[in-house]
Amino acid sequence: MQQIGKLTVITGPMYSGKTTELLNFAEIYELGRKKIKIFKPQIDVRYSADDVVTHKLFKMPATVVKNLDEMETIYKNLDEKPDAIFIDEVHFFENDITYLVKDMTADGVDVYCAGLDLNYLWQPFPTTASLMALADEVIKKKAVCEICGEYTGTLSYKKKIDGGIIDVGGKEKYIAVCKDCYKKLVDEEVRT
Ligand SMILES: [Zn+2]
Repeated sequence: MQQIGKLTVITGPMYSGKTTELLNFAEIYELGRKKIKIFKPQIDVRYSADDVVTHKLFKMPATVVKNLDEMETIYKNLDEKPDAIFIDEVHFFENDITYLVKDMTADGVDVYCAGLDLNYLWQPFPTTASLMALADEVIKKKAVCEICGEYTGTLSYKKKIDGGIIDVGGKEKYIAVCKDCYKKLVDEEVRT
């Protein structure tokens, strides 16, 4: 009987090393001469169109998909199922990704998903939340708080309020902060 694959979710705020952790796992499979496949959504164009790239510019080749349907089609048409699949920026995909991920694990594929748990309004991303519920293991990463410098950053704060919930950007737009500093920043916003 086919063994069910393991689902791991790597989550946390921006700049918490989620993609680095994802690629570290990918490297472990590669070192073990296992077959892997990396997916990422097309929306993430910060550094490179065809690679998964960390903020420190460590990169591995990835298949860029426009949406969940495209990822599903590519997966279903693979000649040979890989040992593990890695999906970056998973919060950008529709919630139905849970069905595809379950299919993948049912095929015996280990699945690793990395993405934001919370948007800049301190609200859960539904896709990440669902995957966390299904996961065998959830790795919650932290960032260094941009304001107080403590290693307690769990939230992403958006400096200028525009562009909506899905608004790709780097440090010019978002900073990682701890909950106390987040609250102070929001209180200041209300006053000004
Ligand atoms: Zn802080």
